[in-house]
Amino acid sequence: MTSKSNLFGLSLEELQQLCAREGFPRFTAKQICDWLYKKRVDTIDAMTNLSLAQRARLSEIAFIGRHAPVDCQVSKDGTKKYLFSVERLAVSGKSYVEAVYIPDGDRATLCISCQVGCKMGCRFCVTGQQGFHGNLSAADILNQIFSIPEADSLTNIVFMGMGEPMDNLDAVLRSTAVLTAPWGLGWSPHRITVSTVGIIPGLKRFLDESQCHVAVSLHNPVAAERLDIMPMQKAYPIADVIALLRKYDWSGQRRISFEYTMFRGMNDDTAHAAELVRLLRGLYCRVNLIRFHASPDVPFKTSSAQAMERFRDYLNAHGVTCTIRASRGEDIMAACGLLAGQASSV
Ligand code: SF4
Repeated sequence: MTSKSNLFGLSLEELQQLCAREGFPRFTAKQICDWLYKKRVDTIDAMTNLSLAQRARLSEIAFIGRHAPVDCQVSKDGTKKYLFSVERLAVSGKSYVEAVYIPDGDRATLCISCQVGCKMGCRFCVTGQQGFHGNLSAADILNQIFSIPEADSLTNIVFMGMGEPMDNLDAVLRSTAVLTAPWGLGWSPHRITVSTVGIIPGLKRFLDESQCHVAVSLHNPVAAERLDIMPMQKAYPIADVIALLRKYDWSGQRRISFEYTMFRGMNDDTAHAAELVRLLRGLYCRVNLIRFHASPDVPFKTSSAQAMERFRDYLNAHGVTCTIRASRGEDIMAACGLLAGQASSV
């Protein structure tokens, strides 16, 4: 007996192929897309403009892989951290991912995960300390967006949760296609930002195939020091990443930003600011400074507010647009680098 296929996450073209195989009219695929992505139903029975026979046949061969979060922690600042179980990966015992909902005035951003754990091993990151436990499918990625109570109010998506998007690029591109295609949510790609440590082959493909914004985790402009905290610097030096980015046009609507977590006494002085300016000179970009959130598992310290402001002011004075990112959800371990995939009761 063949296993049922998951309709959620399929493209219009894939649904057209499925309908052709089943002898359904071609327009049925568009109807199914509308139910999945516009009306957001989570059962085949709810697709009421399909005939009873079509719904019965679809239920025999397919399902909608949507499932609610298993836990939600709410920060005093309104940030919410949702925990999702990934049953397929339960065999490893590490089968949870987190998505963080960040309301901010008119904006509501959801930070989502693309892998359970991560292979990149960044030394300041709690996720990185856990190792890698599996890739999410496009359906797993989209489920984080579609299955939270705030799904309808989201204005922005950032792929900055657990995992490295360029290490699971097929699933990431499939999920951004659902978000941006006319048959999906129809969002502008400029409402979506995908982060990376700078895996050059994946980044190049992403830049060629997607119009979403890109955020590169930079954290230290000095190659030897960056290597100390980010092992991927060895295979993909930040200078090569930036050389690749310089080949693309950033003067339009698509943006490139650099994430720079500030560690006291490591990367937060004027010499590092000057080196960062040198590295980024002439590239149309923005630098976001992130306060490091101390964790018992990580041996680094937080920069002072004054050091962060000095660093920001130096960059702005030397032609590199720089802002300090507001920290959100630190009390529920939802802030940058703190996602570990654990329920509040675990
Ligand atoms: Fe992976 Fe990102 Fe953590 Fe690095 S910072 S280990 S890429 S999740």
